[in-house]
Amino acid sequence: MSTIHIRNVEIVTLDDEGTIYHDADLVIRDGRIEHIGVAPPDLQADEVVDGRGRVAMPGLVNSHCHSPMTFERGWAEDLPFDRWLNEKIWVAESALTPDDVYWGAALAACEMIRSGTVAFNDHYFYMDRVAEVVRESGMKAALTWCVFGIGQEAEVGPGLEGTVEWIKETHNSADGRIRTFLGPHSPYICPPEFLERVVGIAHDLGLGIHLHLAESEGQVQQSLERYGLRPVQHVDSLGVFDVPGGCVAAHCLAIDEKDTAILAEKGVHVPHCPITYMKLAMPFPPLKDRLEAGVNVCLGTDGPGSNADMDLFATIRQTALIHKYQLRDPAAIPGDLALRMATRNSARALGFEEMGVLAVGRPADLILVNLDAPHMRPVHSLIANLVHCAKGGDVTDVMVDGRWLMRNRELKTLDEERILREAERHALAMVSRGMKQMREYRA
Ligand SMILES: [Zn+2]
Repeated sequence: MSTIHIRNVEIVTLDDEGTIYHDADLVIRDGRIEHIGVAPPDLQADEVVDGRGRVAMPGLVNSHCHSPMTFERGWAEDLPFDRWLNEKIWVAESALTPDDVYWGAALAACEMIRSGTVAFNDHYFYMDRVAEVVRESGMKAALTWCVFGIGQEAEVGPGLEGTVEWIKETHNSADGRIRTFLGPHSPYICPPEFLERVVGIAHDLGLGIHLHLAESEGQVQQSLERYGLRPVQHVDSLGVFDVPGGCVAAHCLAIDEKDTAILAEKGVHVPHCPITYMKLAMPFPPLKDRLEAGVNVCLGTDGPGSNADMDLFATIRQTALIHKYQLRDPAAIPGDLALRMATRNSARALGFEEMGVLAVGRPADLILVNLDAPHMRPVHSLIANLVHCAKGGDVTDVMVDGRWLMRNRELKTLDEERILREAERHALAMVSRGMKQMREYRA
């Protein structure tokens, strides 16, 4: 490895104190940050980067997505959640091949790197193929192979036992860049006995669980009828929150005070994906209660089939806006909070504890954002401009473990031209194959 010296750069560290440096130095040696602020005068760097007109900040982390669903971007529009799943998404996925997943995830990786995302928590099928993309791209990821537990004909891939074999080979691979979770889809699909089996495996292998939870009032009613418990309390009673690798419970939209207290007490990580909720017209609660209760709220895009894109800067801005508006309180989600949710909080959810802050000794997982653009000037507040003005396309450079994945807007690890071509070809072929409905959502 080598020494990289970024000079004359603005630095937003997102450390506990919210330290910001102006016209400063950032020195990276062997993949980690060695100096922030002032570089030693005798520093001999292998590469010197002019940081003028740029702000360095921690790379963004997508805490919940379905990256190969780039193939379903624009494929299921203007539908409510049940019809979106039953008539479009779960139908298209019946024709899905492992190659489709590879190219869909590769397309997503290009998009994520271009918009400043360095790590993602993926929940989908054929994760062995997404792992290839992670290895090749240089990104970090927590990969979750989704399983349903209602019969092999409803699974996409080898089912629970097969995914466990894959997890054993894959967890903490690629120099620690790839982590894994067990991935039961949700308590509204997966039977309780199946969830208990997953919990047992999590304990045996020291893993976490990543699932969807409490997305609607309909799901709450259904859970009360079936089990006499609300979804959060139902999965808690099965031990889902007590697994050694922690639980990532996406969404948690329909929850009450007792649910919130459980999520906080059990240290559950809750990805919040507001663009999906708005696009599918799902109701969602204010974040204030769960933030005040100490729940680790993190940000995600969800899949491109529901969000449409994977630009976390859009999610950061929408998170601040929608909650200010919803509470009629401009101080809701203040300052750098939305940035922290998309960096430190999300990284914690993935199990990358060292990520999400720029500090000496931490891995150099960082991005440079262009300030020399009309919508980014003047700079009264770097934080305000990053939250409310920056777009994914303003990211100029992306680094993971000290390695450039993008330099001056050029992708360094992926063949973008080929990926665009192959992804288009595979996506169009997928939706023209014979498709059937594989399972039914009812709530
Ligand atoms: Zn999801």
